[in-house]
Amino acid sequence: MARRRQIYEGKAKIIFEGPEPGTVVQYFKDDATAGNGAKSGIITGKGVLNNRISEYLMLRLQDMGIPTHFIRRLNMREQLVKEVEIVPLEVVVRNVVAGSLSKRFGLPEGERLPRALVEYYYKNDALNDPLVSENHITTFQWAHPQELEDMETLALRVNDFLSGLLAGVGITLVDFKLEFGRLWEGDEMRLVLADEISPDNCRLWDIRTNEKMDKDRFRRDLGRVEEAYQEVARRLGILPESGKGDNMTAENEQ
Ligand code: 5GP
Repeated sequence: MARRRQIYEGKAKIIFEGPEPGTVVQYFKDDATAGNGAKSGIITGKGVLNNRISEYLMLRLQDMGIPTHFIRRLNMREQLVKEVEIVPLEVVVRNVVAGSLSKRFGLPEGERLPRALVEYYYKNDALNDPLVSENHITTFQWAHPQELEDMETLALRVNDFLSGLLAGVGITLVDFKLEFGRLWEGDEMRLVLADEISPDNCRLWDIRTNEKMDKDRFRRDLGRVEEAYQEVARRLGILPESGKGDNMTAENEQ
């Protein structure tokens, strides 16, 4: 494959220049980090699984009329997406108490919230992604009031749709993190869902046993991390076929 210019390397993905203007390539790594890099490791096969899972979920969301940056999957580890200006916020939607919400308010994990809770965190590793209010966001101009409203509406629509889709395959969507991007079309700008949606940024529990099927298995040293991601893909009906190389293009796949 021709050498491409790397634009950015994050903890779990690398962004390369795309083949056409206005596009970039997202490469999914097997690297895993937790606690803002305090813990790091490799989850073999994670990148391949997340590429597939995120492709599937983004396409299903697009079918529901939710705009995303996704264009198409290129191969086992890469997808072509629209180039966007990332809004410096992590939009977290929670249905069940877990993780930092449990810690912050001393609530037991597992309690269902009376309604979906939307939170915003400022994307800044040096500050450990602090929780921020809507007033912080508009005062510091990380997003305009209208963008905030649009992000909340979209995040709740994503939650409704994904909660139902996952419940249908025996998974509780406990919480998840979204990122949004500004997509410019001439002078017009619209917000689209960006980044990825995968067990790296969702809490997914087995609906019957509450067994964790997401990155918390890595964060909390529960073991069988790759198996959990595989099980999510299997239930969604998208487990990659075995025995195929990482760089096989989608066009070459049968
Ligand atoms: P919490 O705030 O409880 O740690 O996380 C809430 C949800 O957002 C979880 O599903 C978690 O996976 C996701 N999340 C929050 N921050 C990050 C982050 O920096 N990276 C990733 N991959 N997921 C995050």
